[in-house]
Amino acid sequence: MKFDEAIALYERARKVNSKSAYLLYLLGKCYAETKDHEKAIETWEEALKIAGSPEEIHALQNLIAKSREQLASTSGGTEEENQRFIIHYAGDSQKDIGELTISVLENAYDQVTSDLMFHPDVKVHVIFYLTDDFYSVNQANSWVGALAQGIKILVPLRQGYDQNSAKGTFAHELTHVLINMRTAAHCPTWIHEGLAVYSEFKAMTGDPTTMPTYYENLFEKRVKGEKRMIPISAIDLSPSKKDSDENIALQYLHCYLAMRFLIDRWGSQGVDDLLTSLGKGSHPDNAIEDATGRPPEQFQSELFDWISGL
Ligand SMILES: [Zn+2]
Repeated sequence: MKFDEAIALYERARKVNSKSAYLLYLLGKCYAETKDHEKAIETWEEALKIAGSPEEIHALQNLIAKSREQLASTSGGTEEENQRFIIHYAGDSQKDIGELTISVLENAYDQVTSDLMFHPDVKVHVIFYLTDDFYSVNQANSWVGALAQGIKILVPLRQGYDQNSAKGTFAHELTHVLINMRTAAHCPTWIHEGLAVYSEFKAMTGDPTTMPTYYENLFEKRVKGEKRMIPISAIDLSPSKKDSDENIALQYLHCYLAMRFLIDRWGSQGVDDLLTSLGKGSHPDNAIEDATGRPPEQFQSELFDWISGL
């Protein structure tokens, strides 16, 4: 569901009937989904004034408390702004982030926007979170590196992270944001993650075909060593999925390999065709065929052959 559209709809309904606590409850939820917590709180406080039952009041109070928490974790920090983005550092994470200067982020930004042939005409908001805040606020499993929502990029700062991994995470999340914009959010997870990890590795190592050590080792051990490959159709990276960190990393690795194969064979034109097709609302199978001239089964089998040769 597109929350922006729902908001427009509910706001119109609100003009007609401003005395429905349920309507305001839903509207507040939409604002919260778009991370506009100030608006969410304002709307729910309005609903509180007309709420009838103790259950309603309790639910609204809970929601307000949650949104206040979210606000707290992104406010009171520092902010930097330039032509392309607004960077928000929660708490004193800017001190933490040390060497990760705006020019490093700009670098990654130039890389990703030119690779995806898409230059957004709106500013991208980058929010660096402190790790604990991030996980409690987004209720994500620990393997979720960051979440891309609209033009807001949330990047968690882990203990002991270095400039390179922060740059990689930023490139990864920015890729998600741009894909969402290019395809009107019509992109399957494996393509999303494949391109995001591809950008991440490129930002980290300077070469998208060079995997960072952890992934290189994982590739040697689990893919080459065990001679087992995961078919695209079996990839499941939904945030609620419970699996070992290694198995999840292995799935990301396969997404990456699939997109690296596509770029290796069909170049940036292949990516462009793929995203264009998805943007027109094509089914992923058809989008793959538009980009590669191969039906999905053939794409899959050529992909496995290519991986075997690595
Ligand atoms: Zn991702």
